[in-house]
Amino acid sequence: RVVVVGSFNVDHVWTCACLPRPGETLAGEYHTGPGGKGFNQATATARAGAATSFVCALGDDIGGQLARALAVADGIDLRDLRSDAPTGTAGIYVDAQGRNSIVIGPGANAALSPAFVEAQRALLAGAAAVLVQLESPGDAIAHALRIAHEAGALAVLNPAPANATVAGDLLALAAAITPNETEFSGLLARHHSEDIAADSVAGMDDARLHALCRRLLPHGSVVVTLGAAGCFVSHAASLLRGDTHPHYRVAAQRVRTIDTTGAGDAFNGALVAALATAASRPFADAVGFATRYAALSTEHAGAAASMPQRADVVARFGA
Ligand code: ADP
Repeated sequence: RVVVVGSFNVDHVWTCACLPRPGETLAGEYHTGPGGKGFNQATATARAGAATSFVCALGDDIGGQLARALAVADGIDLRDLRSDAPTGTAGIYVDAQGRNSIVIGPGANAALSPAFVEAQRALLAGAAAVLVQLESPGDAIAHALRIAHEAGALAVLNPAPANATVAGDLLALAAAITPNETEFSGLLARHHSEDIAADSVAGMDDARLHALCRRLLPHGSVVVTLGAAGCFVSHAASLLRGDTHPHYRVAAQRVRTIDTTGAGDAFNGALVAALATAASRPFADAVGFATRYAALSTEHAGAAASMPQRADVVARFGA
């Protein structure tokens, strides 16, 4: 089983010709759907074929009802703290070039607590893997990683969004981290005073990239996602997780991309689902599945809604 601990948001998305300037009123095409990094990733782990539990905080409102209905539809075991605050929301403007401006209302997500996570101890300790992100309070996330770490469950930290702070002990508790280029550059700046431009990461030579990953997480595995350039994997020499090389790249699949929203969430969910359900297979196999899964997610619009089923991935790319 995979346990995802994290956020749920109702996304409100307006697609406009351009992004609104201060004082300006625009009309745009509107749609709404489920999001939040935690829920996107839990939807991905479930649809990728792993038994999934999702630990989160919801309001007593229509957003909370939406989360519960969607969890039932995807067979996700929902462990929700019921908060007085409204369910999390995100207001998203997208322009004709695909650029966006986003405001998040954390609402109930901010109520997720170490005490509520502690109440899920048996679930977390019995999981094959625990997956967390930084859209929830740091102390709650740290507690989930600590329980996983102590119980020997694979503790995976997706250090997103990039502007969230990552306490050093959070990194120490993770067996693997999955930053994108911006998050990787931010972590290196904050924890090691390394000034690496995010847009230089994909083109960096492998030995240098591996050395930077080793500084960031000396004891664990680092998967740096590189958008359409795929990803870079770096393991501690003492723990190759079934791989033959301590570092390597995996190219992205070429697909008909229409919306990359949630590509990182798709990748994380599929990676952890594959690691949890086929623990004896090489890590590279799980990365390959995550790469195919994330690519397919970009052919569909939306966040949680764009997550494909395992069968769709197999039908498209083979097993
Ligand atoms: P994030 O969404 O967190 O910024 P990335 O953009 O790095 O994360 O995307 C995560 C993964 O999704 C990549 O490693 C890649 O496998 C896949 N992906 C992203 N964009 C594309 C694309 N345009 N075509 C195919 N795969 C993609």
